[in-house]
Amino acid sequence: MDNQTLRNYEAPDAALAGRVILVTGAGDGIGKAISLALARHGATVVLLGKTLRKLEKVHDEIVAEGGPVPAMAHLNLETALAPEYDALVSSLQAEYGRLDGLLHNAAILGTLAPVELYDVPTFGRVMHVNVTAAFALTHVCLPLLKASEDASIVFTTSSVGRKGRAYWGAYAASKFAVEGLAQVLADELSTDGKVRVNCLNPGATRTAMRSQAFPGENRERLPLPETIVAPYLFLLGPAARGVTGGSFDCQEPAKPA
Ligand code: NDP
Repeated sequence: MDNQTLRNYEAPDAALAGRVILVTGAGDGIGKAISLALARHGATVVLLGKTLRKLEKVHDEIVAEGGPVPAMAHLNLETALAPEYDALVSSLQAEYGRLDGLLHNAAILGTLAPVELYDVPTFGRVMHVNVTAAFALTHVCLPLLKASEDASIVFTTSSVGRKGRAYWGAYAASKFAVEGLAQVLADELSTDGKVRVNCLNPGATRTAMRSQAFPGENRERLPLPETIVAPYLFLLGPAARGVTGGSFDCQEPAKPA
């Protein structure tokens, strides 16, 4: 499978009809755009995020467009403990009985600083939100994903998760970890072929995180999140059945992202 196939994918209107897909960080940025796009193609989206008001906005937008009524999972991935994860899984089990997709999109940047000066507690926070929480959520959701006939897990990576770059500290380390976790999981799940696992790098995209990383750049030159949805729809939908263990790019690599 090559990047061009993902980028050129034109999802049929009902490509994701009937699928239940959980998106983390669904209230803003790329997660919001993907959630709206998934719903437009028929998916029931479970909107997970830490700011309730943002989730409600996305929820209402989907309903106003006539999409399948989404669910909201108000969860702070920095502080959530086992009972909160268990409660989420219980409610998904009761409501849907399965999960057909899990998009690990939520992440934090932390700070950009040389390792020697990097704040160690910040390192811990970034690793927790970007890696440990994704691990914990995957761990508890696996029985639901295995209950689907064709489930897809997508981890969000970054170019600095494939080649280290000065000053990207915890964020780069976390994205390397995400790539590693995805490879381990893809290998573990390859035997029965029902749950596939891939990584996707959105590339430089006009969001709050990008502005935090590159405050001086001209935002207008960056693509909006809604313009990079095709590879997400591809990987989370039936078109990518059998595709697992890959790491893909939504855009040609241009600037550090
Ligand atoms: P944003 O900062 O715009 O959005 C991040 C989302 O994650 C927000 O919805 C935020 O919620 C949520 N989130 C953050 N912390 C938590 C938490 N503790 N618990 C629950 N949700 C949380 O980022 P992007 O949209 O730019 O990034 C999306 C993904 O794409 C990330 O994985 C990022 O690493 C990756 N990426 C982005 C690039 C870019 O150029 N934008 C380039 C390469 C990769 P809230 O708004 O409520 O805080």
